[in-house]
Amino acid sequence: MTLKHLAVAGLFVLVPMLYIHSSKLTQRALDEKANASDNNDFTEREKRDIRIPTAGLFEQTDNITIDFSKLRRNEWCYPLHNGRVISPFGGKRRHAGMDIKTYAGDTIYAAFSGRVRFARPYAGYGNVIVLRHDMGLETVYSHNKYNLVRIGDVVKAGQAIAIEGRTGRATTEHCHFEVRINGKAFNPAIFFDPITCCLRSEKVVAYKSGRIETSNIVPANNVAEDKGKQTKSQQARS
Ligand SMILES: [Zn+2]
Repeated sequence: MTLKHLAVAGLFVLVPMLYIHSSKLTQRALDEKANASDNNDFTEREKRDIRIPTAGLFEQTDNITIDFSKLRRNEWCYPLHNGRVISPFGGKRRHAGMDIKTYAGDTIYAAFSGRVRFARPYAGYGNVIVLRHDMGLETVYSHNKYNLVRIGDVVKAGQAIAIEGRTGRATTEHCHFEVRINGKAFNPAIFFDPITCCLRSEKVVAYKSGRIETSNIVPANNVAEDKGKQTKSQQARS
């Protein structure tokens, strides 16, 4: 066999080896990418902060509509079964959510299906979970005794996500429940009735400017009878 023949034979061995090696690398890169997107497709800021705009939400449009009337019965879950609203959204203390109370150790459920964007202790919120849902809607559940889910977890509406507690700035066990679009909180009572716990047939339009519109007129006193029963310490709570 001549030197030329050896070189050709060598190529026949080397080229397939390189091909196998490179396809293994490609597969590994794909696997790594898949793992990364499973756990880390939120930006660092999204994983660090609760009240932040959703990356790219208004890139293609200046407004989005969330039509709650389109949701089926199993696509909504009141976060605390038999929970009572003890403090509504807004008011003098500019409450960013509504406080729902049952008993310490009760289970908190995901309001809608979505993905866990945030799950850890955070200042006055205590143990807090932020879920991201379709169309950029986010729900926040705080003061939890324990969180049962982790960043990146996919959750179904009605899935157990936390245990009711009083971590952070809270003087009684309850769930501080917030709803946000692009980081801006709005009144959860816009889309569900805090007395019956049922979803309303409502559309919410959120604008890039931060304005949020709805045709629903939520009575200012829809939890007035609960508010009257609050103690001073409950009113001071977050
Ligand atoms: Zn609160």
